[in-house]
Amino acid sequence: MSGRVPQAEAQAGPVDWVSRAADQALRHAQDADGQVRLVTCASGASPSGPVHLGNLREFLTVHFVADELRRRGVPVRHLHSWDDYDRFRKVPAGVDASWAEHIGRPLSAVPDPWECHASWAEHFKAPLRAALAELGVEMEEISQTEMYKAGTYREQILLAVRERNRIDEILGRYRTKAKSPEPSSEQEAESLEESVAADDEAPAAPGDDLARFPFKPYCRECGRDTTTATAYDDESTDLAYTCSSCGFSGVTNLATQDEGKLVWKVDWPMRWTFEGVDFEPAGLDHATPGSSFTVGQEVAPLFGGRAPSFFGYGFVGFAGMQKMSSSAGGVPTATDALRVLEAPILRWLYVRRAPKQTFNIDFGPEVVRLYDEWDALGRKAADPAKRDAAVLAHERAVGPAAGPLPTSRVSVPFRTLSSVADVTAGSAELISQVIGQVGYAHESVADLEPRLSKAMQWTAEFVPAEDRTIVRETPDAERLAALEPRERQWLDLLLANLPTELELEAVTTVVYGVPKLAHGLAVDDAPTDEVKTDQKAFFRLLYNLLVGKDRGPRLPTLIVALGADKVRELLAAS
Ligand SMILES: [Zn+2]
Repeated sequence: MSGRVPQAEAQAGPVDWVSRAADQALRHAQDADGQVRLVTCASGASPSGPVHLGNLREFLTVHFVADELRRRGVPVRHLHSWDDYDRFRKVPAGVDASWAEHIGRPLSAVPDPWECHASWAEHFKAPLRAALAELGVEMEEISQTEMYKAGTYREQILLAVRERNRIDEILGRYRTKAKSPEPSSEQEAESLEESVAADDEAPAAPGDDLARFPFKPYCRECGRDTTTATAYDDESTDLAYTCSSCGFSGVTNLATQDEGKLVWKVDWPMRWTFEGVDFEPAGLDHATPGSSFTVGQEVAPLFGGRAPSFFGYGFVGFAGMQKMSSSAGGVPTATDALRVLEAPILRWLYVRRAPKQTFNIDFGPEVVRLYDEWDALGRKAADPAKRDAAVLAHERAVGPAAGPLPTSRVSVPFRTLSSVADVTAGSAELISQVIGQVGYAHESVADLEPRLSKAMQWTAEFVPAEDRTIVRETPDAERLAALEPRERQWLDLLLANLPTELELEAVTTVVYGVPKLAHGLAVDDAPTDEVKTDQKAFFRLLYNLLVGKDRGPRLPTLIVALGADKVRELLAAS
């Protein structure tokens, strides 16, 4: 044997759902002769409301698979379809009731009630774009409004209409077979297919081949989709319709005019073929019998294509949000999550679990543990000998193929930053100064970003008031006047030994050492049982006098954060 490394061994390494999905996308893209063309990984979303953390899974699932192919040097694109030609379905809470007038119009034709964007659809696309940029997600966006209105799909529409009986036969088989439970939760109910899926289920009189016509015009007069086809001429491709909203009757020509869209269950497989989609996941509700994917698999060949590689992904929920006033009416978006989570950590939450697993993003105290876990994984990832599936998830999370996302130059545990932010309730400059004193040398606030801002925002917005630390403004005169002699002795010993320039290690020694000194021991002697009991009583006394509670952040950190003057002011004999 020569020293040549066998191919399989050279490629050996941890495997995760991303690598497996990338393999499948690649296989799908391979022509008969084994040549790989551009691989298309597709996502889709309807900008009907805030894109919440459940919808974010659509974008990130596709991103990670496209990113894996990019790392392998395969030509790939992440193609994202905005289903902004879908109908506006209902007026959400908080929007003026007069918007009911727009129900039935395309999301791209509904005005923005907040008056900051060109349309309803654009209002909800914009913040997601910003969040995706922070997350390192690059995608090629297409607007279905633009595609349909430009006549891009004319041939496909004419084909679907010619084949409407075969399409209806396929749809019909699934209609009778599967009355699978439709999406139940609010989150799933807002899935992309839903706005038009109902069109496919319309009851039809026997022999009425227009009732399930695969193309739905938007009314030329009022712009709504409340239209009913009344006649279709296969020769001229004239479609006559009436509108139940405004009473308009008209004719649209499918070969020359572009005034409507294919119904969802036909639209989706048409686009797989049109765009050459190799991989496109969707919420688990799309993978049930009778769902749009199952039906689409059979419809796609009519367009000369085939279904992409596919899997359904699970629900993403949230917890620990009692305080939050989110833009999504309590349902957090990617923007909300990025206020407290570094972009790589948010990526990590989505990449570390198999797609079928559901999970919650917890904005409560769990955030602190999440940061600790992430930092520990980062230390493990630094050792090439420890490369396993967890480290692979870390590699995918730190950034896209193009390079890692920005991280703090000086790494400080999130719990330390949030503690100091809590105690000082102060500016980034003040926190930065205290962070230096507690042992994390750095030159400027910028060295602590982006983590510092996230810690400040989390402390201010997600820590419940009863858990916040409120430093006393004035000494507790009553408690100070009622001190027992040993309590006064502890405080005097503390004040006598507290250095002028507070530094964490020295302060720690003094705080733990005071009860030892009171027992005639030295500060670095091992504590006796009596000393340990006294330490507990002493610490509680300090919390009482400094923050008016029985507990709080670590005392040495608290004292350094308060500064010597404030500590003396609150503890000195009156
Ligand atoms: Zn009308």
